[in-house]
Amino acid sequence: MIQLTRKARFSAAHRYYRREWTAEENQRRFGLCSLPHGHGHDYVLEATLAGEVDPATGMVVNISDLKAILEQTVLARLDGEYLTPEHEVLAGLMPTAEVLVTWIGKTISTALAARGLPARLSGVRLWESSRLRAECTARGERWMVTLTRTYEFAAAHRLHSPVLSDDENRRIFAKCNNPHGHGHNYVLEVTVGGEPDPRTGMLLDLGLLDQVVTAEVVDRYDHRHLNLDTPEFRDLNPTSENLVRVIWDRLEPALPPGSLHRISVRETDRNVFAYERTTG
Ligand SMILES: [Zn+2]
Ligand SMILES: [Zn+2]
Repeated sequence: MIQLTRKARFSAAHRYYRREWTAEENQRRFGLCSLPHGHGHDYVLEATLAGEVDPATGMVVNISDLKAILEQTVLARLDGEYLTPEHEVLAGLMPTAEVLVTWIGKTISTALAARGLPARLSGVRLWESSRLRAECTARGERWMVTLTRTYEFAAAHRLHSPVLSDDENRRIFAKCNNPHGHGHNYVLEVTVGGEPDPRTGMLLDLGLLDQVVTAEVVDRYDHRHLNLDTPEFRDLNPTSENLVRVIWDRLEPALPPGSLHRISVRETDRNVFAYERTTG
């Protein structure tokens, strides 16, 4: 099975507001997103198709066909629009990234079938900003929707294992074993999954997610020395493998049951570590 991915961009304004709720209720649920005149984003979209290569053309599908589907069925209905629950595309749902990505996924799948193209949609990713993206991914006959939020913190660490000798520590960790440590601008991606709430359009209240991640991770580790300032790494080597597990264990019980899906920690541009919920 070969996958091919096409990127597209569109700009849209949106406002989160339920007419049947009071202004106070809308403000409480949606904060700044409920302001009367709305705001907007430059969205970036990636659609991935999967299929077998046609021996005659050497292609799964002609990527121009995917380009045309994106332009005619997705961009034509979203680019330059003001998205609210009253917009025909939203049909009563809130214009969150997770609702939009679900609509985009269904729209592309329908268009592929209508044109008889020999490929299926394996996933769509939609970035509302560089710090927030929603994805829908095919899981058999079902779609899994996730939302990924990016956070940063700067911290020092020294790679040193208490069960190894000083010589072994120096040999294995080299400069990273220097006594005073060194530091990184860690980039943390937190992915939550589930069904968007039909009233709010949200998988999870972003305000709650920000509050939990800020309290449990960012405020705890930012501008700290992991080995010296945090008890969890006093006797545990603060490699990014261990960091990603420790962060999972801090966030998982603080978020709604079953919602945390994946954690990734980018230690440098070249090194990324991830931990994902295993589904049975
Ligand atoms: Zn927005
Ligand atoms: Zn390091």
